[in-house]
Amino acid sequence: MLKLNSYRFFTVTFFFISLFVINPAHAEQVVVYSARIEQLIKPMFDAFTKDTGIQVKYTTDNEGALLARLKAEGRNTPADMLITADAGNLWEAARAGVLKTVNSEILETNIPTHLRDPQQQWFGLSIRARTLVYNTQKVKPADLSTYEDLANPEWKKRLCLRTSKKVYNQSLVAMMIAEHGEAESEKIVRGWVANLATDPLSDDTRAMEFVAAGRCDVTLVNTYYYGRLMKNDPTLPLAIFWPNQNNSGVHVNISGAGITRHSRNEGAAIKLLEYLSSEKAQNLFADVNMEYPVNPKVKPDSTVAAWGSFKQNPMNVAKAGELQTVAVKLMDRAGYR
Ligand code: FE
Repeated sequence: MLKLNSYRFFTVTFFFISLFVINPAHAEQVVVYSARIEQLIKPMFDAFTKDTGIQVKYTTDNEGALLARLKAEGRNTPADMLITADAGNLWEAARAGVLKTVNSEILETNIPTHLRDPQQQWFGLSIRARTLVYNTQKVKPADLSTYEDLANPEWKKRLCLRTSKKVYNQSLVAMMIAEHGEAESEKIVRGWVANLATDPLSDDTRAMEFVAAGRCDVTLVNTYYYGRLMKNDPTLPLAIFWPNQNNSGVHVNISGAGITRHSRNEGAAIKLLEYLSSEKAQNLFADVNMEYPVNPKVKPDSTVAAWGSFKQNPMNVAKAGELQTVAVKLMDRAGYR
């Protein structure tokens, strides 16, 4: 009798051990498709796994490829979460039907309303500010005021812009359309084009290099590119100017995430999303790329904080997605290549 009981005891114990430890199918995990590169996501995933025991597997690629993959895989996708930069891209993913609505009080508390989808399919996790960078030997801050002002003739042959093919200036123009309407925005973009010192440049860094070299006086960039460039060469005659502080505020965009429509680990994926918005993870998420935390309780890192505080445009970043096509057509009509 005693023998039988101990035999049973061991059998039952082994059964439960195998259920939770040996059988890997029961280890919780989240699969992430990320357009943010490995070095910008891995530190947060490692911290999350350490805190929760939930494993995170990830694949990185550009946003177009990841969205195409989610669409092609449909309900067979292994992905639980999509991480990408720019509200325009997140909006596009939601429109393509690959994301699902998430109801989470934690996300609503941690992320300001204008930095998440009104339909709750995507959520901002870091803020990227698109601002003016000028040559400190040629321009006084008092000469600068707004994005719109760069269309005035006093800036003739003094402006450099990144190509309109990149989503960043498309989003900026989309937000201008939301504020000023199409006709007024087209006038502004035409003014920019008329003021260009060179053909549009391939990227934000190149645009700042032109400004530093005196080939133009001012440009529009995301601040993390400024941070990277100045880290390489702090002697460059460049400085940040926060425009539109007396009206709409600085154009901000996000990098963010959503849960996939066909996620098989929805509970764990939401936990990861909530974790990324938490005070604990926000600095990790923002600081690795010199961006700003979305969570207002969290301060930016010291390098970023030294650029000064600014009023952001409180309009919902979803507008950047909604009006992206209109913006692209407008830029084309205005001759902005
Ligand atoms: Fe970028």
